[in-house]
Amino acid sequence: MSHPSTRAEEAARQPITSLKGVGERVAEKLAARGLLSLQDLWLHLPLRYEDRTALTPIRLLQPGVPAQVEGRVEAVERGFRYRPMLRVAVGDDSHATVVLRFFHFRAAQVAQFAPGTRVRCYGTPKPGQRGLEIVHPSYRVLDEDDDAALGDALDPIYPAVDGVGPASLRKLISQALDRLPDDDSLELLPPELLRELALPSLREALLTMHRPPRDADLAALSQGQHPAQRRLALEELLAHHLSLRRQRIALQKHRAPALAGPGKLAKQLLASLPFRLTGAQQRVFEQVRADLRQPSPMLRLVQGDVGSGKTVVAALAAMLAVEKGKQAALAAPTELLAEQHLVNLRHWLEPLGIRVAWLAGKVTGKARAAVLEEVASGQAQVVVGTHALMQEAVTFRDLALAIVDEQHRFGVHQRLALRDKGAQGQAVPHQLVMTATPIPRTLAMAAYADLDVSAIDELPPGRTPVQTVAFSAERRPELIERIRAACAEGRQAYWVCTLIDDSDEVIAQAAQTTYEQLSAALPELRIALVHGRMKAAEKQAAMRAFKQGETQLLVATTVIEVGVDVPNASLMIIENAERLGLAQLHQLRGRVGRGATASSCVLMYQAPLSLMAKQRLATMRETNDGFVIAEKDLELRGPGELLGTRQTGLATFRVADLARDAHLLPHVRDLADRLLADAPALADRIIQRWVGGAARYASA
Ligand code: ADP
Ligand code: MG
Repeated sequence: MSHPSTRAEEAARQPITSLKGVGERVAEKLAARGLLSLQDLWLHLPLRYEDRTALTPIRLLQPGVPAQVEGRVEAVERGFRYRPMLRVAVGDDSHATVVLRFFHFRAAQVAQFAPGTRVRCYGTPKPGQRGLEIVHPSYRVLDEDDDAALGDALDPIYPAVDGVGPASLRKLISQALDRLPDDDSLELLPPELLRELALPSLREALLTMHRPPRDADLAALSQGQHPAQRRLALEELLAHHLSLRRQRIALQKHRAPALAGPGKLAKQLLASLPFRLTGAQQRVFEQVRADLRQPSPMLRLVQGDVGSGKTVVAALAAMLAVEKGKQAALAAPTELLAEQHLVNLRHWLEPLGIRVAWLAGKVTGKARAAVLEEVASGQAQVVVGTHALMQEAVTFRDLALAIVDEQHRFGVHQRLALRDKGAQGQAVPHQLVMTATPIPRTLAMAAYADLDVSAIDELPPGRTPVQTVAFSAERRPELIERIRAACAEGRQAYWVCTLIDDSDEVIAQAAQTTYEQLSAALPELRIALVHGRMKAAEKQAAMRAFKQGETQLLVATTVIEVGVDVPNASLMIIENAERLGLAQLHQLRGRVGRGATASSCVLMYQAPLSLMAKQRLATMRETNDGFVIAEKDLELRGPGELLGTRQTGLATFRVADLARDAHLLPHVRDLADRLLADAPALADRIIQRWVGGAARYASA
C-alpha cells in the first residue's frame, strides 16, 4: 500500500510511453528533449498562447495584434515577382478585406481557395500594399454547414520538439494533464502560504498554464506575471534553494582544522606590503579569519570588482594555514592568471621564508615529479597552479585551505576535487572562492545558498576611473592617432580583437591581420601580439615584454581578459564591442585604470547597433561600478548566462527567471527555513520534484 502523499510522485514518474500514441520513435524524440515522464510533460510549459476563442471582424483588425477572422474568399492571385506568391483576399460581414499571403504553397492549396469559399484563419496582420495582410496564417477551410465551434481555452504554443509535430505534442501533453493527481496528493506547499500570497495550488497553476481560460490575463501570462507562473516559479526556486541548503548542512557535518593561531605571519605580511589594506579588505579578511578559527569547514565566496585586491586577502588567509604547519592551495582558471598569482605570492611570501610551489600543465617530467614530491612532503607550504592542481596525481601532506580564483570558470566538480585533496577521514579543508564577476545580491542568495558571501566593495585609493567612449568603426584612423599620442607620452595601450567568429582559428587570424595593419600604420611603435593559438611560452614572453614596457602596444584577443596587471597601460581599444556581453566588457576594461594616470577605454562598434547593444554600450559609458553592471546584465541577459551553466545549474530553471522573480526570494528563504525545521521530508520531496537527479552535488 502506498502512502497517499507519494501517489503524486508515482504518477509523476510514469513513463511517457504509458501514453497513447507514444511508440519507440516518438519516445526517443521526446527523450532527446529531456521529456521522459509525465511530470516532464506537465512542466513543458507553453511559450505563448493563441486566442482562437473569438472571431474578430476584419474591419477591427489592428496591425501587430494577432487575431482570428472568418470570411469568404473574394479573389485569388498567383504571381511570380522574385519568387512564387499566392494572395487570397478574404472579406466578411464587416465589409472589410484582409489579404492572406503565401510564399510557399502547393497547387492543392490554390485550388482550395475558390472564390466564395468559407475560411477561418489566425495570424498577425501587417500593413501591406493594399490594406492589411497576414503572411502565412494558420487557416482552415470550412464547409457551408460546418458549425465549427470556437475553443473555450486559449491554444498553448509549446517549445518545439524535433520530430514530434505541434499537434501531436499538444495531444500528448493534454493526455498527461488528464492524469494530473488531485490537490491532496500533489500539493507540497502549506495552504496558508498560498492564501497569504494569493497563489493557486500546483494543480490549478499547471492547468491554467496549459489551458488558460478564455478570460485569462494574456498580458500577465506573456510577461510571466500571472499568479499561475509565480506559483510555479516559487516552488521551483524553493526546490533549488533547499537543495543548496541541504548541501550546506551536509558539509557542516564534516570537521575542518581550526586555524586559530596568533596570526603572526599574517601580521608580518601586512607589515611588509607597500600599501595598507582598504577598509573592505580588512573587514573581509576578519570574516575569513573568524571562519577559519572554527573546527568546521568554511565555504566563503569573496566577491570584489576587478582590481579590488582579492589576492592579498587570499594570501593573508593562507598565512593562517601556514602558521599552523599546514598547506594552502590557490587555483586559477588560466595559466596567465595563475602565473600572475605566483609572481605576487612569491614576491610577498618568500621574504617571510615561505616556500611557494608552482604546478601547471606545462610543468612536466622531472620538474613535475619534484613539485609533486614537495607538495606531498609538505615542504611546499603554498601551492599555486591551474587545473593541474586538481588532478589525481597531486597529493598534499596536509591541505587546510583551498582557494579558487574566478571560480565561475571552474565547474563545481573541480572545486570539490581540490577540496577532496585535503580530506582526511571526516575532516575537509576550508574553501575560499573568489570572483570578480559581481553577482547581484538577490542572485547570490539563490545561487549561493550554500556559501557565505563577503564583498570587497571598495577599490584601493588613487585609482582614477576609466573614461569610456563608444566609436563607430569608421573612426579607426582617429583611434590610431590616439594610440600614437599615448605611446609618445610613454604610456602603453591594448588593442583587443574580439569575437568575429567562434573559432579560435578565425579570431587568431583576425588578430594577426590587425597586428599587421597596426604595424604598418604605426611604424615607430614596438607592437606585440597575443592570441589563443600561440604556444604558452610565446604568450608568456609577449606578455612579459609588455609588462616590462619593452613593447608599447599589445594586440590581443580576449586571452587578456583576466589577470593581466600592467599599471602603465592606460588606453584600451575593444573592437566589435557590440558583440560582447557586459561582464566581459567590464573584465576587459579592468585591464586599464590600474595606475595613477587617467585611463580611457574605447568601445569600437560596427553600426547599426541593435537595441540591446546600444543599452550595453550606454551602461559601459555610464558606470565603472561592477555591481551596477552586473545588475544591468541580469536585467538584459537573464541569470543563466551571468553565472555560467556549469556552476549552478541555474540555467536549467524551467519556469523561474531570477530577474523577474527576484521578489519571491525572501519568501523562498523563509519558507525554506520553516520546512527544514518542521518538515524535512517535505523539503526532500520538493527537491526531488524539481531538481531530482540534478541534486548531484549532494556531498558538496
Ligand atoms: P583583484 O581583486 O582584481 O584580483 P588584485 O588582487 O590583483 O585585484 O589587486 C590589484 C592590484 O592592486 C595589485 O597590484 C595589488 O597589489 C594592488 N592592491 C591590492 N590591495 C591594495 C591596497 N589596499 N592598496 C593599494 N594597492 C593594492
Ligand atoms: Mg584577481
